Amino acid sequence: MPQTIYLDANATNHVLPEAIEAATRAMSIQYGNPSSTHTEGIVAKTILEQSRRTAAEVIGAGEGNVIFTSGATESIQSAVLSALCAIRQRQDAGKSTGKILVYGATEHKAVPQALAHWNHILDLRLELRPLPVGRNGQHDLQTLAEWLSDTALLCIMAANNETGVVSDLSGIDRVLDAAPRRPLWLVDCVQALGKMELDLQRLRIDYAAFSGHKLYAPKGIGMLYVRKGSPFTPLMAGGGQEDGLRSGTENMPGIAALGAVLKALQEGKTFNSDRKMRGFRDQLEKALRIAFPSVEFNAPLSLTLPTTLNFSIPGMSRKAILNVFDAAGLRVSTGSACSAASSTPSHVLRSMGLPERQSEASIRLSFGPLSSAELIHAASLAIERCGKALTPTEDAAVDFTPAIPVTETTYAADPSTFTIQWNELDAYLQQHPTARLVDLREQAEHRASGGIHYGAWTELNAPMSELRTETPAWVVSDKTPVVLVCRSGYRSLKVAQWLHGKGYTEVRHLGGGLAMRPQGL
Ligand code: PLP
Repeated sequence: MPQTIYLDANATNHVLPEAIEAATRAMSIQYGNPSSTHTEGIVAKTILEQSRRTAAEVIGAGEGNVIFTSGATESIQSAVLSALCAIRQRQDAGKSTGKILVYGATEHKAVPQALAHWNHILDLRLELRPLPVGRNGQHDLQTLAEWLSDTALLCIMAANNETGVVSDLSGIDRVLDAAPRRPLWLVDCVQALGKMELDLQRLRIDYAAFSGHKLYAPKGIGMLYVRKGSPFTPLMAGGGQEDGLRSGTENMPGIAALGAVLKALQEGKTFNSDRKMRGFRDQLEKALRIAFPSVEFNAPLSLTLPTTLNFSIPGMSRKAILNVFDAAGLRVSTGSACSAASSTPSHVLRSMGLPERQSEASIRLSFGPLSSAELIHAASLAIERCGKALTPTEDAAVDFTPAIPVTETTYAADPSTFTIQWNELDAYLQQHPTARLVDLREQAEHRASGGIHYGAWTELNAPMSELRTETPAWVVSDKTPVVLVCRSGYRSLKVAQWLHGKGYTEVRHLGGGLAMRPQGL
């Protein structure tokens, strides 16, 4: 089985060993509730405040507040609620306030959705207006300046999750400074932490959202920075934790883990330098250019985070590339993790004015500040393998659309009667020594993976897209045992259903596909 080469760090990542240790301690030995007044409580409170201090230093919070939350989505809700409540108070007091909520056209959907939600809940009837970006992904500051006098709240991310394009925060700050009434400003810093310098107090940012799991802390922990004096309305009321700003018993394992990550970031020994990360990106860029000479990079690399590459390969569908990359062990994505399963073109690339065919076929490759030289080398070799597997003659055809009527199969038998699991496979093959293992993946996927190699069984590669309505030759009779395999178990299930419908009851499908193959098998 090819080595797993995880290049989807913008979606999430594994947890730093020191962070796992800190979380484990917080769950086993230092398990106190920071609100308790006894010794265990004092220990927990010390960890909590130490994590907060480190966080404040790392992000340049100055006199501002750092509040621990469940993640960036909650931090964004909290900031938006606070800003909208302040706008409402100004309105109620008859003071001037803008009527537009401006957000960058390429924001993560947590931002426009939160704006729409709270605008509706609070019945403010403010206008939501996306700020356009140019072909390079950066915001149109001229337009921002024109809208400024009517802007009540501005939401602009520090770096984009799909393209890695870094926003010109200093430029935006200057534009805001020129306003007679400076609007409130929320910055989504999720993708920036650990990958670029942050000094929030220097820029007059009111709110900044962070997420632990994007930087080697666990999922379910995040932070909200609130500038000193900026309005705040708690999203969660209750026991008064976090000085009453965010009630609910603190997620101490998460906070301790995030604290350990931030400490490592501050000490500067654990994570790669900017220079090293840029070197890694150059290596990957070169590998892509060699493997796919027509590759198009969708954002200027001079403006992006050093860890993100967004590209398209003309003539190849996203699905084809993803499947072949996955077969070679390369875990990349189509854009934001939330929309990874959808085939709709990225709103980010669309906003940048990319042609539809290019945004429809975009792939995001992202590594993290912990990625090693070995990983990048292995990735470059795997990319080369994919380039060879996806030969130009096949490229046009590889969209993996089944040519057989399996998508609307009407066969109603319970799939559990013909599904076998990995832990049952050995026993099945021993009982059925003549069984054939049939890999339904496309040729390019099969080639990029180097084949399945399961014990003494060599599989036959029979791409699903090449199946026709007649029974395939590899199903010799209704008595011949056949085990169908694919990447996730989806294609094998569909083909098994179709063949059972034709009366071939000895056909089996391997549940979970190659994705669920146990380690070492
Ligand atoms: N903002 C950006 C830019 C992101 O990439 C993400 C996660 O994908 C979020 C917000 C949401 O973060 P969380 O998962 O912590 O809620």
